[in-house]
Order: sequence, then C-alpha cells, then structure tokens
Amino acid sequence: MAQSPNTPPPPWQDVSWAEWEDWHWQLAHRITTVEELGRVINLTDEEKEIIAKSLNTLRMAITPYYASLMDPDDPHCPIRLRAVPTILETHISEEDMEDPLHEDVDSPVPGLTHRYPDRVLLLVTDQCSMYCRHCTRRRWAGETDRPRAQKEIDEAIAYIRETRGVRDVLISGGDPFTLSTERLEYIVAKLHEIPHVEIVRYGTSIPVVLPQRVTEELISMLKKYQPVWINTHFNHPKELTPRARQALAMLADAGFVLGNQTVLLRGVNDCPWIMKELFQRLIENRVRPYRLYQCDLSQGISHFRTTIARGIEIMEHLSGHTTGFAVPEFMVDLPGGGGKTPVHPRYMISQGDRVVVFRNYEGVISRYIEPADYRFECPPNCHICEERKARGLDQPLVGPTKVFARERVSLEPADLPRLQRRKRAADE
Ligand SMILES: *Cc1c(COP(=O)(O)O)cnc(C)c1O
Repeated sequence: MAQSPNTPPPPWQDVSWAEWEDWHWQLAHRITTVEELGRVINLTDEEKEIIAKSLNTLRMAITPYYASLMDPDDPHCPIRLRAVPTILETHISEEDMEDPLHEDVDSPVPGLTHRYPDRVLLLVTDQCSMYCRHCTRRRWAGETDRPRAQKEIDEAIAYIRETRGVRDVLISGGDPFTLSTERLEYIVAKLHEIPHVEIVRYGTSIPVVLPQRVTEELISMLKKYQPVWINTHFNHPKELTPRARQALAMLADAGFVLGNQTVLLRGVNDCPWIMKELFQRLIENRVRPYRLYQCDLSQGISHFRTTIARGIEIMEHLSGHTTGFAVPEFMVDLPGGGGKTPVHPRYMISQGDRVVVFRNYEGVISRYIEPADYRFECPPNCHICEERKARGLDQPLVGPTKVFARERVSLEPADLPRLQRRKRAADE
C-alpha cells in the first residue's frame, strides 16, 4: 500500500481526503451490496451468492473506513468477520431467542429498558454506521436505519423525568453518535436538566468503525454536559488503527471517561493472547477495558458463541498476569432478563474457622486469617444511609441483600409447589 498519507486507500483513491475524513461522506458511501463489497475484497461468485442469501436478517452496511481495514483475501480476517454476513447467520439454533435479554419485555415506553433499579437503557436510534454481524439487538438494529421518532424520544425522557430512582441513563441504539449533533444535544440537554439524573453515558462503536465522527463539533457539544462516560466496542487489536487512536485521544483529551466492552467471539478473539494484546493497547490509549461479554443467545449468531469455560480460561490468563485495569470483568447477560452477571475464575478454594484459603494466579496457595472479634457496627456519627433514604435514592432491598439485612429468612420462588400445597391446606 504505497500511498501518500493523505490519499484514501483503494478503491477510494480518487476520493478527496476531505471527503474521506467527512463522516457524512462515510455514512453516505457505506457498502450495502455484494457488488460494492466485491470491489473491496476478493470474492468468488459462489461467495457473492452466499452473502446475498445471508442478507435477509440484519442489513449490511460497512463504512469505507472500516472496509478498508479488511484483508482482501482472508475470509478469517477479524474485521471481515465483524462486518460481512455469512450463511451461518441464516441458521437458527435450538437455544436462540429473538429477545434473549427481554429488552422489549422490560420496556415501560418504546425505546427504553428499565431493568436495574437506578439506571435505564435508552435506544435513541436503530441506525449503526456499521452493522456488527454478532449484534445482540439484531431483531431490531437497522430496521429503519434511522433515528427514533421524536415523539417516542420525548415519551422516554418524560418517563425518566417522572421516575426519581433513575440516576444513570445509558444512551445506546443503534449507535447514538450516528445522530446529528443537534439531535443528540436535544436529548442530552433535556436529560441534563433532570435533577436526579447524575450521569449520562454512551454506548458507541464510532471510534472503531467511523472515527471521523469524533469531530470538534461533537466534542464541544458533549463537553457542555459533563460528566460524560463513553463505552466503545473494540473486539480485536487490528481495530486500533492510528486513525482510531486519534479519535480516542480527542475524546480522552476532552476529559471524557473511556471504557470498552468486548464480546467474546469464536474465531475472532477467543484467544488469551489476542485479548491481552487488545486490552494492553486499549489502556495505552486511555481506554479502560470495562467488560468482556459472553456472546448472547440472539438469533442467528450461534456460530460466534464459545463456551463460558473459554471465557473463564481467558480470564485466568489475564487476572494477576497483567495490569489490573487492563482486565475487564467477564459477564454473562442472562436470558429472560436476568441481567448482567459476573463470572470469575475461582480463587477462594477453601474456608475454615477464621481461615480462608486462596490460590493465586501462579497457583500459590495461601491463607488469610480473619479477626476473631469482628462484628459490624454503624460508625456512630454517620448518617449516610438515613440521608440516602430521605432523598429517596435507594429502592427496597432485593435478593441476598434482603437476607443479609435480616429482613427475610429465605427467598422462595412464587411457584414453589411446596408453597402452593401449604396454601391449599390453609384454604381447606
Ligand atoms: C447493560 C445495561 C445497563 C447498564 O449496566 P451496567 O452494568 O451498569 O453497565 C443498564 N440497563 C440495561 C437494560 C442494560 O442492558
């Protein structure tokens, strides 16, 4: 690739650099057909036919920038696997579900999922600049390739305004940064006005697939509404190009907190060395690896899934072996709306009277001796819990916290047959 730094890569070498660097140009020139794709990577007629057949689920749209990173000859290129459909997507496996995370079920108003007590997920658009083939939201992503209707956005904001417990709004989609800066500001400004909304965060793949979108205009708009937390979605070190790094530097220099969510994908990054490389390069670019997600049970992506054991094995290679903040938390988002649940290798291997036995990442076994006389007591002059209660910050306790608080002896499923027998006996 002998080209001057200011010439777009082939086959776009006749496009001006200004156009190439214009995110609107990139969006307008996304690769959406097999014919266009054939000009960027080498495809046989059979491959073209197969790709065309695979296109009836989630649409294909690849920014020229991201497409230019694809290896033209390697069908296993990680960039290509993320962007180009394969026939495997037409296979629906037994465990596949349309909405495994129950995002639609737990949705009080369209476009808003309220699952956890203090935070909501706001889907402002179904458009992405590039549609990831492993998309968890493929039931919906790219359906219209447009922002959500203004009326629905207003209803979602009204819900947040009326729901005092919501202190954290996660703006996602689609990709929220595909919205025009004005449209995004409309939403953010309204959220910023709500006193109980403490933070707004964004889920975006823009730094990965369309770094040109990180403009001074976007940054100066976002800066007005600090604190800004941004989670991006790098899956492979090959995606951390000089251009992507430049976009990350602009965001970090603006004072935004950058995190990354990686999805564990078979044949793409299911290897500890690829992951270690990715996470170490991310922290070098001021991005904290936040989560490593087990691939969801969404329809048509079973070929991307690994076992959970593989994820744990990868975590074994990372924890303790490298910088703590280069190690994300490994999470499984439980089907049925169970939510994100952490999975760790087991380090605590036994427990006796005041002695807890651990093994470390090297396999060394050590004990920790617990104090003999520990008993928790509230610090006498602390009133934080009372103040939080008065401000309505905390929801009623659930799950183990309720048991720990001595509010309940046990928690029982509502449909426990034993309970029903008891109820029947009482009724008779
Ligand atoms: C992931 C997610 C969040 C945010 O979860 P964190 O664990 O706080 O990052 C919030 N709402 C929904 C519905 C989600 O799926």
